[in-house]
Amino acid sequence: MGKTIIKDTLNRPLRDLRISVIDRCNFRCQYCMPADQFGPEFAFLPKSALLTYEEIERISTLFVQLGVEKIRLTGGEPLLRKDLPLLVEKLSKIEGLSDIGLTTNGVMLPKLAGDLKKAGLKRVNISLDSLNDELFGKINGRKVGTKPVLDGIEAAKKAGLGVKINMVVKKGLNDSEIIPMADFCKREGLQLRFIEYMDVGSTNGWKMDDVVTKKEIYQLLKQQYELEPVEPAYFGEVAKLYHYKGTKVDVGFITSVSESFCSSCTRARLSANGQIFTCLFNGNGHDIRNMMRNGATEEELRNRIIDIWGGRKDRYSDERTLATASNRKKIEMSYIGG
Ligand code: SAM
Ligand code: SF4
Ligand code: SF4
Repeated sequence: MGKTIIKDTLNRPLRDLRISVIDRCNFRCQYCMPADQFGPEFAFLPKSALLTYEEIERISTLFVQLGVEKIRLTGGEPLLRKDLPLLVEKLSKIEGLSDIGLTTNGVMLPKLAGDLKKAGLKRVNISLDSLNDELFGKINGRKVGTKPVLDGIEAAKKAGLGVKINMVVKKGLNDSEIIPMADFCKREGLQLRFIEYMDVGSTNGWKMDDVVTKKEIYQLLKQQYELEPVEPAYFGEVAKLYHYKGTKVDVGFITSVSESFCSSCTRARLSANGQIFTCLFNGNGHDIRNMMRNGATEEELRNRIIDIWGGRKDRYSDERTLATASNRKKIEMSYIGG
């Protein structure tokens, strides 16, 4: 079946699909799944609620037929999902899909990077918020030092995967790590993307004052390095990139708070239990799992996706105010997939 690119009410095409394969995680990052809210009693999804790999493959195939070119697997921690390379292998066979990526905390990459690469994975984004063991252990809420993540980075490189590093910056917590992280990534030839701390979910106690903006980070970097802006490679590229002059290395910013990019947001999200979300900040998911389990045909599923995307109006970050940040019903990042 060929490709039909569908568009939403603001004329934005459907291009990317982010799939959360599991809502659990081995970390408790304080900006994402704070340990005091996600304790031993927390009720994560039971296995039967998770989409099976066959269901993910089926729904992904329809998404690709409707315009999706890139799929990114995320979570929770996606590498905690059993046999993830099997899913990658299934997805890599979908005709018309040009790219599969994965966002991970990296800890299980030494075990899995080789199999993931063999299965068809192209790239990994690895999250690392500090190079200081004590601070990193405090941020991840599990006292895990940097070594397991650094080993994960090495394993991914060795396996031949493209590697980018994600760093969420929170004021007073890890802004002191901006330059050390930039130095490290530049030296290692890795693209570092600074992510503005976002008001996702309702458990992280987000305040605007905690955000370190792109402008602030850029000013800091400018004092150390010569940076040249890089033109966006395609419509909807989320990271704003700069090039370290005289090197082959870029550094990027994900400016979800200070310079929103809703007008070019082409991303749909599929939660671990099979709900489609049209925005990271829109708490109303559209069930597709039960439709599949109740015997829906391909035609019915396709029409459902067309209706959902066709009715999409989301532009939360463009409209963000202090009131919306605290009042709106929002979904946790670990559930919907960051
Ligand atoms: N566990 C994996 C990881 O940490 O990379 C994948 C899931 S995680 C939810 C995906 C991305 O979202 C990570 O890069 C993480 O740093 C980012 N993230 C989580 N909470 C965030 C927040 N409040 N603001 C900005 N980014 C956040
Ligand atoms: Fe887990 Fe990733 Fe969230 Fe950290 S950011 S708690 S590693 S899902
Ligand atoms: Fe896309 Fe929603 Fe983020 Fe805007 S706020 S860029 S619509 S996910």
